[in-house]
Amino acid sequence: MRLSQFYLPLLKETPADAQIASHRLMLRAGMIRQQGAGIYAWLPLGFRVLKKIEQIVREEQDRAGGVEMLMPTIQQAELWRESGRYDAYGKEMLRIKDRGDREMLFGPTNEEMITEIFRAGVRSYKGLPKLLYHIQWKFRDEIRPRFGVMRGREFLMKDAYSFDLDEPAARHSYNRMFAAYLRTFSRMGLTAIPMRADTGPIGGDLSHEFIVLADTGESEVFCDRRLLDLEVPSASTDFSADLQPIVDQFTTYYAATDEMHDADDYESRVDAENQLSARGIEVGHIFFFGEKYSRPMNAAVAGPDGKDIVVQMGSYGIGVSRLLGAIIEANHDDNGCKWPMPVAPFHAGLINLKPGDAEADRACEQLYSALTQADVEVLYDETAGRPGEKFARMDLIGLPLQITVGPRGLADGKVEVKRRSDNTKEEVDLEAAPNWICDAVREGLSHP
Ligand code: ATP
Ligand code: MG
Repeated sequence: MRLSQFYLPLLKETPADAQIASHRLMLRAGMIRQQGAGIYAWLPLGFRVLKKIEQIVREEQDRAGGVEMLMPTIQQAELWRESGRYDAYGKEMLRIKDRGDREMLFGPTNEEMITEIFRAGVRSYKGLPKLLYHIQWKFRDEIRPRFGVMRGREFLMKDAYSFDLDEPAARHSYNRMFAAYLRTFSRMGLTAIPMRADTGPIGGDLSHEFIVLADTGESEVFCDRRLLDLEVPSASTDFSADLQPIVDQFTTYYAATDEMHDADDYESRVDAENQLSARGIEVGHIFFFGEKYSRPMNAAVAGPDGKDIVVQMGSYGIGVSRLLGAIIEANHDDNGCKWPMPVAPFHAGLINLKPGDAEADRACEQLYSALTQADVEVLYDETAGRPGEKFARMDLIGLPLQITVGPRGLADGKVEVKRRSDNTKEEVDLEAAPNWICDAVREGLSHP
């Protein structure tokens, strides 16, 4: 992509109402533009990251046995009356009327709808288990939308729903999502810690929030430091096998948000040196809730003996748009973003220091076409402008590799490559640059 053709409206001033780094940087780097409280347009740079995050989420859902579909954003009130949640949900639900005066709503979540879809299609225990998911916009009329995409009103969520015959089977579905979440966040360069969460009246131990540690997080958390060093399940994990050992490995260590925190238990289970009390961002939430929706909504299947069995359900959310904020909170400096390669809007930026100079133009065009042909995503800055301005812009948008081409380097046959993660620079032979960069991109994209 040539910068002159792209749309990258940077903000010079730091927006006054943006309190945290990720919100400030997303606005300044031209990733989002506010259209109302908690409502954002996704500008091209931000949209590219959103799509990459969404794709990683999708791949790991699929790997774990999830089946993708798409449910509408607009739902009928009737459906929510079946579960009793239409009145219970309160002011967070955006309620709408159509021209026929029918009560509708913009979905804040999809338990009711998926239960209706399931009960219409599965009548026998032989149709179980089922694990369905979609990635769709939600609306919640939050009291305090803030921190940009972290707590929006309109936001993109992956929500999956499991249907099983009994509790042990439901636990296996739960474990599949647990393991999938560990891989999902790790592939984005994040360490997300599963923490015991409140199960409400259902009870049991099958609810976890996945929390990324960050000073600006809204949750207060307490955990065992050793959780940060655990390895996530590899790509070769067999999701049909027993995953309980993986879950046990993570849940033996203490980890709780303040709602579930038990100070005595914490003190007795975690040595002082391993105690970690911090703040965190909830990027995912998995939840087994049994018959909460299936019973009132009559989602039952015929069992082996012909008798009806109410199905056991769970739901599993990931805040896809919130993740942009979380990733920036974990990867930035004073100058801008530092995107991990797998979610970067482009793998590399190519800076032509002297557009119009025949040598510089030729070298840049050659590099640009070689890299593009090798599937490296390059943002090529061929615009006029001072070098300082160009460097500052590249630092702000935070592409993992910055290739700088100018007459002085070219005189020695060299270009300069900077890694944004640690801001180290290296001189590379112009001839060798395409391979060098391809290798660096491949290395950055690899994950166990
Ligand atoms: P929170 O406690 O942050 O309000 P929640 O518990 O209400 O979130 P869930 O219903 O568990 O959220 O939704 C699943 C995921 O969707 C959350 O883990 C979070 O990552 C994301 N999410 C929820 N609300 C928002 C929001 N207002 N803006 C952006 N992402 C959100
Ligand atoms: Mg939650």
